Amino acid sequence: MSEFFSPYDADRPLMLKCSCGRDHTLADHHAEVAADAAAVELRRRSESAEFEAYSNEFIEATLVKALFPQDEVRRRFLRAVGKGTAMAAIASVLPVGTMQAMAQDKAALEKTNLKIGFIPITCATPLIMAHPLGFYSKQGLNVEVTKTAGWALVRDKMINKEYDASHFLSPMPLAISLGLGSNATPMNVATIQNINGQAITLALKHKNNRDPKNWKGFKFGIPFDYSIHNFLLRYYLAENGINPDTDVQLRVIPPAEMVANLRAGNIDGFLGPDPFNQRAVFDEVGFLHVLTRDLWNGHPCCAFGTSTEFIQKNPNTFAALYRAVLTSAAMARDPKNRELIAKVIAPAQYLNQPETLLTQVLTGKFADGLGNIQNIPERVDFDPMPWQSMAVWMLTQMKRWGYLKGDVNYKQVAEKVFLITDARKHMKELGQPFAAGPGFVKHKIMGKEFDAAKADEYLKSFAISKAA
Ligand SMILES: [Zn+2]
Ligand SMILES: [Zn+2]
Repeated sequence: MSEFFSPYDADRPLMLKCSCGRDHTLADHHAEVAADAAAVELRRRSESAEFEAYSNEFIEATLVKALFPQDEVRRRFLRAVGKGTAMAAIASVLPVGTMQAMAQDKAALEKTNLKIGFIPITCATPLIMAHPLGFYSKQGLNVEVTKTAGWALVRDKMINKEYDASHFLSPMPLAISLGLGSNATPMNVATIQNINGQAITLALKHKNNRDPKNWKGFKFGIPFDYSIHNFLLRYYLAENGINPDTDVQLRVIPPAEMVANLRAGNIDGFLGPDPFNQRAVFDEVGFLHVLTRDLWNGHPCCAFGTSTEFIQKNPNTFAALYRAVLTSAAMARDPKNRELIAKVIAPAQYLNQPETLLTQVLTGKFADGLGNIQNIPERVDFDPMPWQSMAVWMLTQMKRWGYLKGDVNYKQVAEKVFLITDARKHMKELGQPFAAGPGFVKHKIMGKEFDAAKADEYLKSFAISKAA
């Protein structure tokens, strides 16, 4: 006790506070000490020449891959125009001069004090850890990362400009741009934060009721209407013959309240973000029925984005932010950093969760609540690529379930909101025709191929659907 409260110290007032002077618990104190030490080590790793070289190449390769998802096209282009011309051409088409700003190193920042919102879930790892690891300050930015209670609040704070940029659910910038559920305000996805990393968690009483065909009457929690969680849960249920609108109830519940609702019996399960799936196991109220990685391996979940207006007004600041978040993603992708990252994001001001819980999520070595220890390293990953074809898939599901009515030009919306680039147009100007836009790749969801070029056909192929 004396270590923390110093009751026999004549030179200090005796307060029932931590001896570090802060008003927090012993557990919080220890979590912060561990986080500081982990941050020091990760920062050291990030400052090694090896990581800097890796990170710069990672960012450049990420952007070039965004332009040329099909490698043979990239090679054909390089062979046709030569490396120098190709580099200049690529620099001219990257979103809002990101690459130019990178090349010029220190372009003047239009705005340096920034407020960025986040929801305390593991999806936001790159955006959060960039703060204690000093990646924002290294770009000349003074960023305040602000914990936010729920997704509707994130949307509202972005629309009324209280936040400069934010952690989003990746379908949100599409919905906000289209004016679904709010006034239409153009928003952009700059990077995807995480891929995979979600699960369907069920209450323990359903341990022997694993076949979704028997789930009529179930109540499920989802974090928001415009979430990959809602779309994947609906997809999964419908593939199993359950109509998500008439056979079950879906309730919007903030992630942090999902476990309490499961415990209270208000819901039978949820498709939610981590750490709350693992938290249900940790608290012995639920088990992991299926990881979303098993439904769509590589699916996008959360995103990092901002308003189109912010990007237009602050292109260099945006480029600096982009670099900070991509640097963070490069660190987060490396499995050998994951245990330290769990310590860095555990403290109260970030996720406020036990470190062991976050370690299970981030390393993919976890208890599933059914008595097994599983080892699935790709349980969550941090691939930043905002494929526009992913946006088209989200739009098809918004139409499928009646969120989006009328005709939609999928490609146009995807290209406007998901900032891969408008490479196609510029490449055409260079005499490099593309059969498909460069941001479009094929995806496989529950065994079925999705080709954005055939989105209407895909939408018509479902037995359970509200789309005419
Ligand atoms: Zn303390
Ligand atoms: Zn997410």
